[in-house]
Amino acid sequence: MAKDLIASFGEMLIDFVPTVSGVSLAEAPGFIKAPGGAPANVAIAVARLGGRAAFVGKLGDDEFGRMLAGILRDNGVDDGGVLFDTGARTALAFVTLRADGEREFMFYRNPSADMLLTEAELNLDVIKSAAVFHYGSISLITEPCRSAHLKAMEVARQAGALLSYDPNLRLPLWPSPESAREQIMSIWDQADIIKVSDVELEFLTGQESVEDDVVLTLWRPEFKLLLVTLGEKGCKYYTKDFRGSLDGFAVNTVDTTGAGDAFVGAMLRKIVDDQTVLQEEEKLREVLRFANACGAITTTKKGAIPALPNEAEAVELLKRD
Ligand code: ADP
Repeated sequence: MAKDLIASFGEMLIDFVPTVSGVSLAEAPGFIKAPGGAPANVAIAVARLGGRAAFVGKLGDDEFGRMLAGILRDNGVDDGGVLFDTGARTALAFVTLRADGEREFMFYRNPSADMLLTEAELNLDVIKSAAVFHYGSISLITEPCRSAHLKAMEVARQAGALLSYDPNLRLPLWPSPESAREQIMSIWDQADIIKVSDVELEFLTGQESVEDDVVLTLWRPEFKLLLVTLGEKGCKYYTKDFRGSLDGFAVNTVDTTGAGDAFVGAMLRKIVDDQTVLQEEEKLREVLRFANACGAITTTKKGAIPALPNEAEAVELLKRD
């Protein structure tokens, strides 16, 4: 049987968002739970589109950890790589967008279960059976999770998986911007596919431009595909043989949380079926149109996981334009 599993490695947590908009964390009258964590969102995005997905990471052995594992299973994601820590809690993040446009964050990670994942605990069978191994950068911030992340990448690579990296910058979690940049770049050359947003591009290059000469400073000869997502403006793509851009879809956006994860999940879902899309520009453009549509749909509803589209919803939007 052809390998078609997409294994996503890293954090799964609960965002607590205010019940009303435009308030500070201190002013919020209450919060609702919004399950997330970029790698978990990607796994669910893949499964919702009919792909085979697994999540590898650690949760707290508590009500919230069990709830999150249940969400993975309910969405058809294999949770054989999920561990539970009896000594630490599931990570929480309180997040708000204030009326003045400033984002406020408060993290409960001191340390949270995801940060305590060790190399020895990794479910290597899940990792070895993956055709695509996807990860972010939050799992690089502290030990022992950092070493577990590096080990998982190595095992996946040796088993022949494509490595997919979305650095997913969360600056407040890092000790300093310099260490974020340094650690994010420390595994840069090992990926086959990398997706950055325009904001991450600016952070990593130090330049406020999405022109090719700036993007290409991040290109490495080993890469199969480098992507820059541009919010409602769509995306740009770079391979060793061709490059180009695709417009986004105009939709009624209410909350952009998870758009990038939907985009990545949709892209990987298609690549795992046919890796020739990495060599044939017309095929790649078709896949990225699909990924743009999935990203766009995710912005039309509140929250990440509830908003991730299925195949029929994506096809519907593709027909419209
Ligand atoms: P991230 O969520 O990682 O910051 P982006 O905001 O660039 O990434 O979004 C990823 C993709 O989702 C975009 O390339 C685009 O296809 C789609 N998308 C994001 N925001 C919008 C929007 N407001 N309208 C339409 N499509 C969007």
